[in-house]
Amino acid sequence: MAGTARTGPSRAAEIAVPPLNLAGQFAALREELLKEMADVAASGYYVLGPKVTTFEEALARYCGSRHAVGLSSGTDALLVAMMALGIGPGDEVIVPTFTFFATAGTVARLGARPVFCDIVPETYNLDVSQVAGRITPRTKAIMPVHLYGQLVDMAPLLALAARHNLPVIEDAAQAIGAHDAAGTKAGAFGLAGCLSFYPTKNLGALGDAGALLTNDDRLHELVVKLRIHGSGHTYYHDVVGGNFRIDALQAALLTVKLRHLDDWTRQRRAHAARYTELILSANLAPEQVRPPAEIHGQHIYHQYVVRAQRRDELLPFLKERKIGAAVYYPLPLHLQKCFAGLGHKPGDFPHGEQAAAEVLALPMYPELTEEQQRAVVDSLVAFYQR
Ligand SMILES: *Cc1c(COP(=O)(O)O)cnc(C)c1O
Repeated sequence: MAGTARTGPSRAAEIAVPPLNLAGQFAALREELLKEMADVAASGYYVLGPKVTTFEEALARYCGSRHAVGLSSGTDALLVAMMALGIGPGDEVIVPTFTFFATAGTVARLGARPVFCDIVPETYNLDVSQVAGRITPRTKAIMPVHLYGQLVDMAPLLALAARHNLPVIEDAAQAIGAHDAAGTKAGAFGLAGCLSFYPTKNLGALGDAGALLTNDDRLHELVVKLRIHGSGHTYYHDVVGGNFRIDALQAALLTVKLRHLDDWTRQRRAHAARYTELILSANLAPEQVRPPAEIHGQHIYHQYVVRAQRRDELLPFLKERKIGAAVYYPLPLHLQKCFAGLGHKPGDFPHGEQAAAEVLALPMYPELTEEQQRAVVDSLVAFYQR
């Protein structure tokens, strides 16, 4: 019988679905991007300069912010925002416990204390109703994170911050273009908004880059100085800053890509709607795979994140089938080893801890095909039917 035995019906999951398709995005814009690269190379102007100014103007316009300052990374945007506010030892900054490390890491780097707050399970964002209880006389700022591309419930947060006269620094690294019903965009609500253009973000550079948004003229002026070691005039230093400069090359490439961002967002949103439809109509129990909820404003689906039963068994199963799913993030920040000194223990922020145990990001990028999405959902069904 050798050679005639059936190996099983061919299955959709044999289609590989990589976690990202950055090379595909480059290929689609190849001519435009290569022209910018050649321009920058020939100009001899490689750090800051006219390409950066052009990008900053386009970015500020896009985000609905008075100013945008191009910076070296999203992490540095958070750092420089807090440096500009004079945050340091003895100060506290309120952050969600469930986020990328940089949100709290930058607070700690300045010698200040990240004060963690739990999240709302449906949105994975800061539970605004718990923020008031975390404010002390040492609180110097509140740092909400628009996680996965969905806005934090900003109206009550801004009202609370105003009552306590506290600045809001938005970590909008995952949320460029997300907006509320009035059209206000992520990063334009607070005193400062921080963006990342890390290659995997919705607007990605070909290297590291970030930006700070603000409507405040004085903050803008200070951040521009801090970006170049605090100097107003070359080699005369008014304050101590750092090297937070953005490359001209990244700014030039980002200016091109920014023109495509709304198209990419539309595609991401269409893919999200299709994932949800496929999951809800598949042969899955509701507790096995729970699609994300769009509750606050327009979600830009930096990530499409489901809650999955037996997530830690599902992940290797998907890997085996070449489905590039990922976990953002497996351990909430209050339980990270580097923050052991803050004295937290499991159970302190139960929603953040549960999210860390259950979340699973499915492949999400504009170039994703319907066939690939079907392969992803077929694999989910196959796992729970084993
Ligand atoms: C990516 C990210 C950052 C940091 O941005 P980098 O450009 O990588 O330094 C900060 N916060 C969040 C929530 C992020 O996702």
